[in-house]
Amino acid sequence: MKESLVFVLNCGSSSLKFSLIDSQSHAEVFSGLGDSLGSDTPIVKYKYQGTKHTIDLPAQSMHQKAVDTIVDLLATLSLSDNVTAIGHRVVHGGELFTQSVVINEQVLSQLEQLSKLAPLHNPANIIGIKAASIAFPALKQIAVFDTAFHQTMPPKAFTYALPRDLYVEHGIRRYGFHGTSHLYITQQAAKVLNKPIDDLNIISAHLGNGASVTAIRNGKSVDTSMGLTPLEGLVMGTRCGDIDPAISQYMIDQLGYTNDEVNDIFNKKSGLLGLSGLSNDCRVVEEHAMRDHDHCQLAVEVFCYRLAKYIASYTVPLGRLDALVFTGGIGENSDIIRANVIHQLKIFGFELDRQANLDARFGKEGKITVKDSPIALVIPTNEELVIALDAIALIEE
Ligand code: ADP
Repeated sequence: MKESLVFVLNCGSSSLKFSLIDSQSHAEVFSGLGDSLGSDTPIVKYKYQGTKHTIDLPAQSMHQKAVDTIVDLLATLSLSDNVTAIGHRVVHGGELFTQSVVINEQVLSQLEQLSKLAPLHNPANIIGIKAASIAFPALKQIAVFDTAFHQTMPPKAFTYALPRDLYVEHGIRRYGFHGTSHLYITQQAAKVLNKPIDDLNIISAHLGNGASVTAIRNGKSVDTSMGLTPLEGLVMGTRCGDIDPAISQYMIDQLGYTNDEVNDIFNKKSGLLGLSGLSNDCRVVEEHAMRDHDHCQLAVEVFCYRLAKYIASYTVPLGRLDALVFTGGIGENSDIIRANVIHQLKIFGFELDRQANLDARFGKEGKITVKDSPIALVIPTNEELVIALDAIALIEE
């Protein structure tokens, strides 16, 4: 049978991640990154058959040039003929999209309307969709939304205590993000625990540069830590997560910051970076924390304490907890963060298996708690695979 490959595209404002997933074996055949787009030194980096390569693009090249370069590469590597669909990660689907869809003119215009809810993300996703449809005119394109998995949250979880009109007329509510990752974790946890998805109660902690935790009851999201935007909730690489909303007014009125500066600080200069004063990279912060760097030690403490509090609070909507699952770059690799969080959850009976915690790193799945403890798992996420499988399911429909 002819190999069926899905081209998965995740477009940001100045970068785009891509991969080619084999829909039968689920293997990643080809992957890479278009980076520094619009700058003097844009590049496309890719990995194929274990070897990494870099292509310099002309100065100021944008997404279309990067996508065209990738398409030429696929042709050169004789991969293009097997590409059967294109799956796009789209950040915000609002309340319009509760599942993935085939993109047509109407969907594109709905995505454009949703850009006002996600001005930092959706416009870049749309640029990627347009670039890919020019590059692959014959192929169906599928949008897979970061918000869709959370559309099962009940009103008591998604409603802010603000005047009702702000929700009814302007859509201001909690949407949640990282949905493809939390969905994948739900599916994998069901396999690991050998339980049907619709009887699975877990808390999924996706800890990457962006971080969110989700309460999943009977296989469905019932609460999640990100909100109208990905800024709410946990401490992240550069985002502050939960803070008193009055801080922004105080900074503007009393300290002379502009609105844009406040936004920039909350989104790009806070979190692990702001607390440590060194880096948004958890590895760097951990290394310095171990060498008695006070600011890094506090950064790790604030990160873990906030996370542990969220996890504890998500036992409320679940009633019964089958497993706590760690994923994302930090969740999959940082034995230090996991140990700290598990320690703070002692009241629930959690007890770490130290050796298993050390073993479950660098892509290895594992159970990291001792026999009589509630279960904590490490499961590497695979958002690209969810996107590819959704794309295949939709083109076969
Ligand atoms: P993104 O949200 O950009 O997809 P990732 O899921 O790749 O991010 O996670 C990136 C984070 O994972 C970074 O903070 C990085 O430091 C962290 N990370 C990766 N490996 C380790 C490790 N061995 N120990 C601690 N943190 C790690």
